[in-house]
Amino acid sequence: MKNLNLFGNIVTLANSGDKMENHFRNQNKLQLNRGYFFLILALFTFHCALRPSGDIKLYESYFPHENGIAPITKGKIRVTFLGTTSILLDDGETQILTDGFFTRPSLWKTGLFKIESDPIIIQSVLEKAKINRLKGIFVCHSHYDHAMDSPLVAKFTNAKLFGSNSTINVGLGAGLDQANMEVFQIGKPIRLGNFIVTVLESKHTPPFRILGKTNATDPNFPDIPSPLVQPAKALDYIEGGTFDFYIQHGKNKIVIKSSTNYVKGSFDKIKADVLFLGIAQLSLQSKEFQDIYYQETVQKLKPKRIIPIHWDNFFKPLNQTLEPNLRIGDDFEANMNILLNKTTQDKIQVQMLQGFESIDLF
Ligand SMILES: [Zn+2]
Repeated sequence: MKNLNLFGNIVTLANSGDKMENHFRNQNKLQLNRGYFFLILALFTFHCALRPSGDIKLYESYFPHENGIAPITKGKIRVTFLGTTSILLDDGETQILTDGFFTRPSLWKTGLFKIESDPIIIQSVLEKAKINRLKGIFVCHSHYDHAMDSPLVAKFTNAKLFGSNSTINVGLGAGLDQANMEVFQIGKPIRLGNFIVTVLESKHTPPFRILGKTNATDPNFPDIPSPLVQPAKALDYIEGGTFDFYIQHGKNKIVIKSSTNYVKGSFDKIKADVLFLGIAQLSLQSKEFQDIYYQETVQKLKPKRIIPIHWDNFFKPLNQTLEPNLRIGDDFEANMNILLNKTTQDKIQVQMLQGFESIDLF
């Protein structure tokens, strides 16, 4: 009996061993399946996050598509959109430019490596946009997607670079002479040909988090403290203050506002015929913020026409069709819905521009 019992125990043990092995095998399988599931989920989420946050084809009617524009006649001002907040204004004699960010390195390059201006891309943009009478470059703020290329654009065109102390440090780092740069003097008009540009203090789009990291400026290090030599990390480009531009040309008035934020009362005493309005991340802000932003910009300036800016995915090259910002950090369709709802009520024309697209404003 004992032997039988022993045999029985051995069989039971062997069976339970088999069961345990099966159990572990199943558990491993389950864990492996779970791993695959989360990996696929993560890849899918990532894939979705890296898609444009809207279908630009749905906004086709807002693009003028004016091809083969004739020479600029006296009194007219032509605008050419060069992505993000790079705007070229041209009256036939003088050209002025905001930012001039043309290199647009890919998301991977920007996230993983040090980045630098690409002289070949910059030269090709200068050629294609016919930038050959440029007198001034005005930098909205010193993040890389605004300030990185402006020193090289200044070098190639001999135009003067206007910016904050941080932007001047981007210029010095790129080897631009101090004589080719001028620090912003808030409220003091600068005349370039028939353009009169007044720099106004503004505010950067409210900070946000991506993968737990915030893009907020560290209050202890608000500026680029010394010449910034390229290649440099995207995060080395510290905001250094944000600025709007009030541009007068004869009786015509333009405001370029790059960031989605406001300084209360900043536009109390001015009006604009055309407003270039930063709409990035507008829908990510509270309803109250959206309303005040609209009141302090559009309703103060009373423009006849608004051209949204900073809506395109600046990780894509400028020579490809511009697409909305990525889902990971923005919602273009929601931004446009907010703007179009409000401007329809106020009967203000909204127009969009593709990369290298030009129209006469006046
Ligand atoms: Zn910025």
